[in-house]
Amino acid sequence: MRYHGSCHCGRVAFDVEGELGQVLECNCSHCSRKGYLLWFLPRDRLELATPEDAMGSYTFNKHVIQHRFCPQCGCAPFALGTKPDGTPVAAINVRCLEGVELATLQRVPVDGRSY
Ligand SMILES: [Zn+2]
Repeated sequence: MRYHGSCHCGRVAFDVEGELGQVLECNCSHCSRKGYLLWFLPRDRLELATPEDAMGSYTFNKHVIQHRFCPQCGCAPFALGTKPDGTPVAAINVRCLEGVELATLQRVPVDGRSY
């Protein structure tokens, strides 16, 4: 299934290809503030319609994950990072995808606060 995603103002736009089943809901200081519901998938499933330098990037902790956001409207539709083995991954904030019924998704709690 192919999903279209964007920030609120539309400056950041992208498509994602995959089967959306469960999403991670993390309670760490960052995820809880932004309300992320994250869908992890290989980086090459994410197709950007916006140049990377047109987005803001926020990092913290070990600075291994780039949380991208729209400098105009402030939405944070996805993050980019690498797995310990070096494989590039994307974490999509499914709240920014069109046609997703949030209530039907299985939310998996992640205790990021304790790490
Ligand atoms: Zn925007």
